[in-house]
Amino acid sequence: MYKIHLLLLDRTFEHDVFELIRAFYPGTEIRTSYEDAGGGTDGEWDLSFRVWREKDSCMIRYQSEEHSGVVSASVTEGQSSDALISCGGQAASGSEGEEGRPRRRSQEEHDLRKKNKDSLKYALYQVLVKLTGRTLPWGNLTGIRPAKLVMGMLEEGKKNTEIAAEMRERYLVSPQKTALAITIANREREILKNIDYENGYSLYIGIPFCPSICLYCSFSSYPLKQWKNRVDDYLDALCREIRAVSAMMKGRKLDTVYVGGGTPTTLEPDQLRRLLDEVGTFFGFDGLEEFTVEAGRPDSITRDKLLALKEYPVSRISVNPQTMNQETLDIIGRRHTVEETRQAFRLAREQGFDNINMDLIVGLPGEDITMVGKTLEEVRRLGPDSLTVHSLAVKRAARLNIFRDRYQEMTFENSEEIMNLAMRTAYEMGMGPYYLYRQKNMKGNFENVGYAGVDKAGIYNILIMEEKQPIIALGAGGSSKLLFDHGRRIERVENVKDVAGYIARIDEMIRRKQDGISAWLYNLGGVPFGCGK
Ligand code: SF4
Repeated sequence: MYKIHLLLLDRTFEHDVFELIRAFYPGTEIRTSYEDAGGGTDGEWDLSFRVWREKDSCMIRYQSEEHSGVVSASVTEGQSSDALISCGGQAASGSEGEEGRPRRRSQEEHDLRKKNKDSLKYALYQVLVKLTGRTLPWGNLTGIRPAKLVMGMLEEGKKNTEIAAEMRERYLVSPQKTALAITIANREREILKNIDYENGYSLYIGIPFCPSICLYCSFSSYPLKQWKNRVDDYLDALCREIRAVSAMMKGRKLDTVYVGGGTPTTLEPDQLRRLLDEVGTFFGFDGLEEFTVEAGRPDSITRDKLLALKEYPVSRISVNPQTMNQETLDIIGRRHTVEETRQAFRLAREQGFDNINMDLIVGLPGEDITMVGKTLEEVRRLGPDSLTVHSLAVKRAARLNIFRDRYQEMTFENSEEIMNLAMRTAYEMGMGPYYLYRQKNMKGNFENVGYAGVDKAGIYNILIMEEKQPIIALGAGGSSKLLFDHGRRIERVENVKDVAGYIARIDEMIRRKQDGISAWLYNLGGVPFGCGK
């Protein structure tokens, strides 16, 4: 295996440097060491990098059998002596402020840090292009939210043409991806313009059971068969969390609810009623902008469950085929048929659901463009209201990764051509792109894109992806995101992932939320809990 070594001064821009190198060399071993921790370049490496500071520049040395050289990136110093600004130095978020509290970065420090990070990545990208002879569709961007970057520029008052120039010249993004990100950010702004999202929040509720576990899955998901006897215990714990958190969020406007998982429709009709009753009683449904239930797996959807959902103001559901090729479904362990997908979709339409999303994955094992084309044609015939096209991302925890030797004979194909075919089909179905995100380890370094017809976009998807408001996540594996300092800082409150642990430790999960939400309210200038008022 090709081996890469990366020697950094310290951890300041470690993540960005590492991710950019990995984007050019997927699947290779990359070892990182730090000079401030006594690290060196010992060992045998096919390619090595050293990044260090020299006066007002950040230097990058690269060395392989065929190439070697040094490039520099300029570094801008700030006013504040301890604002971090270099490729060395201490990040402000890690330093201590008054009264021992961690000192937070000011806007100036934040901007300066970004400027220096961009400068370093720009120089490193040029080196990587030279070494590999390739460019990347998203240029030197390593973050998962390119549309958020564009949204930020729109909010600063920049014109689309100025943003396009910055995306191409500063971040080296391809013209096509630049156009995609700008189109999406503008549509997101249009969709959000009538929602007072800054004063609201959204709720995520996780149901971590599935009919079987898909090969690529890295979510908190448990096979229903083995956990059937614990589902009611899980709902008991979840209902306790719902009650407790509704009290913590009292007086705040709930904008969207998203029930996901896992597969929410593994719950029986009465279990669904119990859950949704609880949400309605304690949070209330009045004024909701959107209420999504990700039915998900077609093999879990029945008429009775859909009718149960219809008793509540569920406005959007998802029926997810991933692929309409039976042989792929069999390989990836979804254990349902293409026909079950067609039936589940028609059943949902018959019950009156007029906003149905379908999720697809491209780059699945053994699938080429012809097979993706077949899936898209089948989906077109069904006519969903929105379509989310994912590029396969094989995460560490996925069985596909754990047992990768078993699947090494298979091709995992994704290409610009496939992504374009999906986009063309979505356009022909009357949909346009409305949100986008990237993940680590995506096949072909592409992106996930949500397409939707007019008024059919998933508002929750935009709110969570653009980090516009707090998302309170309930259930096993729930990761709540709280926005501090007007969104400049995000803190997470995590629930444990395993179901048994969640049930047994529900009091602790509630306490974690109490602490997190209390700190968030304090930051907003509100009254935290437990002060007796
Ligand atoms: S349906 Fe989704 S959550 Fe369930 S196992 Fe498959 S990928 Fe995981």
